[in-house]
Amino acid sequence: MVERVAIVGAGPSGLAALRAFETARRAGADVPEVVCFEKQANWGGLWNYTWRTGLDEFGEPVHGSMYRYLWSNGPKECLEFADYGFEEHFGRPIPSYPPRAVLHDYIAGRVEKSGVKAYVRFSTPVRHVSFDEKTQTFQVTAKDLVADRHVTESFDVVIVANGHFSVPNVPAFPGIDKFPGRVLHAHDFRSADEFAGKNVLLVGSSYSAEDIGVQCYKYGARSITFSYRTRPMGFHWPDGFEEKPLLQKLSGRTATFKDGSTKEVDAIVLCTGYQHSFPFLPDELRLKTANRLYPLGLYKGIFWQDNPKLIYIGMQDQYYTFNMFDAQAWYARDVVLGRIALPSAEEQAADIAVWRAREEALENPFQQIDFQTDYVRDLLAATDYPHLDVDRVAELFKEWEHHKQEGILTYRDRSYPSTLTGTLAPVHHTPWIKALDDSLEAFLGVRQAAE
Ligand code: FAD
Ligand code: NAP
Ligand code: MG
Repeated sequence: MVERVAIVGAGPSGLAALRAFETARRAGADVPEVVCFEKQANWGGLWNYTWRTGLDEFGEPVHGSMYRYLWSNGPKECLEFADYGFEEHFGRPIPSYPPRAVLHDYIAGRVEKSGVKAYVRFSTPVRHVSFDEKTQTFQVTAKDLVADRHVTESFDVVIVANGHFSVPNVPAFPGIDKFPGRVLHAHDFRSADEFAGKNVLLVGSSYSAEDIGVQCYKYGARSITFSYRTRPMGFHWPDGFEEKPLLQKLSGRTATFKDGSTKEVDAIVLCTGYQHSFPFLPDELRLKTANRLYPLGLYKGIFWQDNPKLIYIGMQDQYYTFNMFDAQAWYARDVVLGRIALPSAEEQAADIAVWRAREEALENPFQQIDFQTDYVRDLLAATDYPHLDVDRVAELFKEWEHHKQEGILTYRDRSYPSTLTGTLAPVHHTPWIKALDDSLEAFLGVRQAAE
C-alpha cells in the first residue's frame, strides 16, 4: 500500500496533484500522506512572478522565467480547470486573455479553497532522490532554506513536477562575447521598458521570441529583428519588425545573418528555449528529452517506464496546460490509489511506440492540437475528473491560431466562450496594445460586453 507521496514543485502541475488527492480524500477515499516540496516561498510556479534573476536570496537558481507585462498567450477558455471555472473564482465572466497576476490568482484560488497549504513545505528545494530496491521506497533529501538544514525522508511514490521552462538553453555566436550592448536569455528578461528606443534582436522563432518581441514593441522599442534557425514565424508583422535567417556572427553592433544581410542592433535576447533539468534525480530515474509533445520513457506521458512509482507531470510541450496537468494528476492519483492498474511493461512500450510514431508524423500546429487533444481525452476517459469538452477546446485552439494569423497585435482582444458554462467572455475595456497596466486591479475593472 502506498503510504507516502512526495511531490516536487508547487506550480500548476504539482498543485494539480495536490488537488487530485485532496478531492479523493474529501470524497471519502483512503489517501496516502502527501508532502509537496516547493523551492520558492509561494506557490504557482512560473506564475509566481519574481523580479530576481540569476541567484535568489538563498543563492538558489531563480526558477522564474516570466516577465512584467506578461499576458496569457492563449485563450483562458483553453486552460480552464473543469472542477473550478473562471466564473466560479472571479464571481463573473472576465475577458479571454488575462495578465499573469490574474492567472496566478485563479491557480492559487483553487488550492487555497481546498485547504492543501498544510501539505506544502515552502522554501524547501529537493536536492536528491534515490530508490532503494530492497525496501521499494524512495529516499528524498530536501533543504529547508530558512532553517538552513537538510532533511531526508522516505516515500513510496515521487511525483516530479518541477517544470521545464526554467533552465535556459544558451547557444553562442561568434563575436557575441564582444557585443557592446546587453545580451540575455529570455529566462532573465523582466521588463520591456529597458528596451525603449532600442533596436532589439531576438534569436528564436517560438513563443518567447514572438511575445518578447511584441512586448518590446508595445513598450517603445525602435525596431524588432527576429532570427530563426528552422523557419520564420511568418505573422503579419507591423512596420519595424523583420524576420531574418540564423545569426552567423556579430562585429561590434553589426549582426550578420545566414542570407548575408546585416543589421545594427543594440540588445540581444536569446529566445532559444529551455532544458529539461532534474539535478536531484540519478541517471536511472532522470527523463532526458527535448521540448516535444511525446517524450519517450513515460507511459501515458506520466509513469517512468523503468519504475512507475516515479511519476512525471507536465513534461510535454504545451498547447494544453492547466487542465492537461489535471488530467495527468487525476490519472496518476488513480494509479496510486489502485483504481487503475498499469499494463505489462511490453504493453506499455507498445502503447508509447504508437503515440510516438503519431507525434513524429505531425506536420503543423493544427495536427499538433489534435494530437494533444487526443492525449488529454485518453487520460480523462479513465478518471472521474469532471467533464471537459476537449473537442470544443481543440476548436478554440484552432480559432486562436487563426486569430494570431489575422493579427499578432490584436489576437488578445478576442473573446471566446467558456467550455464549462457557454458564457462568451466580455471584451476587455482596453485593447491589449494600449493596456500598459497589467495589474489584477486594472484588468478586473472591466466593462461587461452586455452593457
Ligand atoms: P512550473 O510553473 O515551472 O512550476 C514548477 C515549480 O517547481 C516551481 O514552483 C519551482 O519553484 C518548483 N521547483 C523547481 N525545482 C524544484 C526542486 N528541486 N524542489 C522543489 N521545487 C522545485 N502557459 C499557459 O497556459 N499560458 C501562458 O500564457 C503561458 N505563458 C508562459 C510564459 C513563459 C515565459 C513560460 C516560460 C511559460 C509559460 N506558460 C504558459 C507555460 C507554463 O509552463 C505553464 O503554464 C505552467 O507554469 C507549467 O507548470 P509546472 O507546474 O509544470 O511548472
Ligand atoms: P520553445 O517553444 O521550446 O522554442 C525554442 C526556440 O529556440 C525555437 O524557435 C528553436 O528553434 C530555437 N532555438 C533553440 N536552439 C537554438 C539555436 N541554437 N539557435 C537558434 N535557435 C535556437 O521555447 P520558448 O519559445 O521559450 O517557449 C517556452 C514556453 O513558454 C512555451 O510553452 C510558451 O507557450 C511559453 N511562453 C508564453 C508566453 C506568453 O506570452 N504567455 C511568452 C513566452 C513563452 P527551432 O525551431 O529551430 O528548433
Ligand atoms: Mg471521465
